[in-house]
Amino acid sequence: MAKALLSDVDPALLAGRRVVVRCDLNVPLADGVVTDDTRIRASLATLRYLQEHGARTVVLSHLGRPKGSVDPSASLAPVARHLGELLGSEVAFCPDLAGCQAAEAVDALKPGQVLVLENTRFDPGETANDPELATRLADNAELFVNDAFGTAHRAHASTEGIARVVRERGGLAVAGFLLERELAYLQGMLEAPSRPFVAVIGGSKISGKIDVIEALLPRVDRLLIGGAMANTFFVALGLEVGDSLVEPDRVDLAGDLLERAGAKLLLPIDVRVAEQIDVAAEPRVAARTEVKARERVADVGPDTERLFADELQGAATVLWNGPMGVFEMAPFAKGTLAIANSAAEAADQGSTVVVGGGDSVAAVEQAGVASRLTHISTGGGASLDLLAGKTLPGVQILSERGSLPQERAP
Ligand code: ADP
Ligand code: MG
Repeated sequence: MAKALLSDVDPALLAGRRVVVRCDLNVPLADGVVTDDTRIRASLATLRYLQEHGARTVVLSHLGRPKGSVDPSASLAPVARHLGELLGSEVAFCPDLAGCQAAEAVDALKPGQVLVLENTRFDPGETANDPELATRLADNAELFVNDAFGTAHRAHASTEGIARVVRERGGLAVAGFLLERELAYLQGMLEAPSRPFVAVIGGSKISGKIDVIEALLPRVDRLLIGGAMANTFFVALGLEVGDSLVEPDRVDLAGDLLERAGAKLLLPIDVRVAEQIDVAAEPRVAARTEVKARERVADVGPDTERLFADELQGAATVLWNGPMGVFEMAPFAKGTLAIANSAAEAADQGSTVVVGGGDSVAAVEQAGVASRLTHISTGGGASLDLLAGKTLPGVQILSERGSLPQERAP
């Protein structure tokens, strides 16, 4: 059933209310400075909206992996400062998460103000989804907004636990604008894609993405496979792959997928190979049937780039997850950059083009085409789980859309 959204809540009900928002502000820091603020920017729409409607906004987030104890290098203080700069207004920060100090800071909030509490993962109850921590967090919430798509696949106290308590108390737990957008694109793609629907899957391993491939297979019109995972399919076809990265225990699975998928599944027809995968390598282009014993397949070849580009050109919906080669090294980045450009061209022509996966998103940025694509997912594991048709605990627990009039917000 559809989940309740922040945009469903009557904005008049937000004024003066304490609204707790779970964001994903897990950004990279160097010497206390935010080095990539993509995730903070992705949270701005929801926070600005709450600010404009006079809510007293309390922001929760994790940062890094502090393992349940205080680690000053993972404090959210610099993130709060950066958020203030982006919002163009002062953002308060409290070095406490769920104790008296946090409660006092929340009480002191005036309508339209934003407060960031300390890293949720400084408390061991966070990842354990401790009901006591969830209850203390919920004490600050007249309304709970989950906007942390990147952690929606984890049942933690600040994602699932707090929503459960808020709802048990008769309150509302809704999806923020970012989460709404992620669900609309990723679920929409699985449920009712415009056709033809073409998926491009790459990356290092079949094993990490088998659930996604299985879920996509009956839904897509074409499945294009590249990256190291194509090597395991090559082995299943009986081809020589030299010293390439292969998952020997997935060869049977790859053979089975090839059989079931038939003409739907396209593998690379040529590849770029080298004996050593390093930045100084000068790769050789080879047909996939001509890889030599000591070579490694590290990228797709130019004929494959054209073949995949043609497929993307004819698609109405494109999903891309996983690079076509070792794109971190310039000699093996060509195939991935070619796909990025083909995807952008498809989007320019009106196709819905969605990219997910940490490395794929990095590749899209590297290619300079990010702004041309329809949607770039901010979640790695969460987008894979969603595309595999799994329910995300942080979404599952939210109020149902139909329940809004009864459950009166907040
Ligand atoms: P994403 O983060 O987009 O989901 P993955 O994490 O699944 O992507 O895969 C990305 C990794 O796969 C990259 O580090 C890349 O170097 C590696 N990779 C892609 N093709 C190959 C290949 N042919 N051989 C070795 N590694 C590869
Ligand atoms: Mg990755």
